[in-house]
Amino acid sequence: MRGYDVKKPPSQRRKTSSGGFTGPRSGRGSVEGRNDQVNRWYSAKAERGTIFDVRRFSTHDGSGIRTTVFFKGCSLNCRWCHNPEGIPTTRQPLFFEKRCIGCRLCEKAARAAGEQIGVERTMPAGNDEPASVLVRGIPYRAHDTENVALWERMIESCPSGALAWDSRTVTSAALASELLRDLPFFRHGGGVTLSGGEPLLQPEFAADVLRRCQTAGVHTAIETALAVPEANLRTVLPHLDHVFADCKMWGRAAHIAATGVPNDRILANLRYLLHGARAAGTRCFPTVTIRTPLIPQFTATEENIRAVAQFLASENPAIHYELLNYNPLAAAKYHLVGRAYCFDENPHKYMDDEMQHFADVAQAEGLKNVTIDK
Ligand code: SF4
Repeated sequence: MRGYDVKKPPSQRRKTSSGGFTGPRSGRGSVEGRNDQVNRWYSAKAERGTIFDVRRFSTHDGSGIRTTVFFKGCSLNCRWCHNPEGIPTTRQPLFFEKRCIGCRLCEKAARAAGEQIGVERTMPAGNDEPASVLVRGIPYRAHDTENVALWERMIESCPSGALAWDSRTVTSAALASELLRDLPFFRHGGGVTLSGGEPLLQPEFAADVLRRCQTAGVHTAIETALAVPEANLRTVLPHLDHVFADCKMWGRAAHIAATGVPNDRILANLRYLLHGARAAGTRCFPTVTIRTPLIPQFTATEENIRAVAQFLASENPAIHYELLNYNPLAAAKYHLVGRAYCFDENPHKYMDDEMQHFADVAQAEGLKNVTIDK
């Protein structure tokens, strides 16, 4: 049952004094290191936000046809991440090799600043089209003003879009107005979804974008890994109709090995959502779906699904639990961002019967509402 009436602006919706369900609080400070660094970085940038993509006509990020905004920066560093360009909190330059026309204008811009890069035209075997390859670049240093200015000039000089920034900074008003251009589509059951990266790392910005969308009568959703302080979640919840939250892995050590951070904060936020969803009949609360992406050798083991399902069932057996099939397409992006993918040989998607087997494992632990996304 949905806790908010989306037709009403947020100011007229019934809220508890704490902004939603008053559930157990997470232990602040239980997750050190990367999480806290990125939270500090974003707290200084509350009015404006950094996003790396806006994708229209998506059918996988919530109900109906949706426009999905991808927020820059993530507190996790999952080895299988589908959007590795969204992980760094700082803007990064990208080089799209296939778009390069070999004009060397970037080289000229670098030379004017006393720097050298080399662009070399190559002819790959068995391919009639010559490809241009940036053979020697200048390392990007996000905190070096001169280096950033040089990259600005090189990117501006590139006529083909081969050199580009991976993200842009926008105001919440500008982003909302961009999103509301799709209002005619949203009237037929779609809406806006915030994804990432981790949208809850920019909570004030996210809340303001969502508030503007809801005021216009648009259904709002978020996809989050929940590795953030509970306060970030509370800031955004009143402006949401649907929360899709990941519960990827159960074991703390396995979680650190696969994502770079422990799962204490995630579990505390999951408990908050699970309790809130259970009380949604009497309190304002968005619809909650918990998801596990099935990643071979990492999350897609019977042992992991059983442990996750046991935890969810012990907190709220009626919660909607969705198993997401492995997406082999993610591997293609790793070359672009200069990272190694977690599989030398990319696995296939799971077959229907394998997906159903994982769903059966989850149901056997007492979850009543398990679905699979093939
Ligand atoms: S300016 Fe752009 S298109 Fe021209 S050589 Fe440099 S990267 Fe390639």
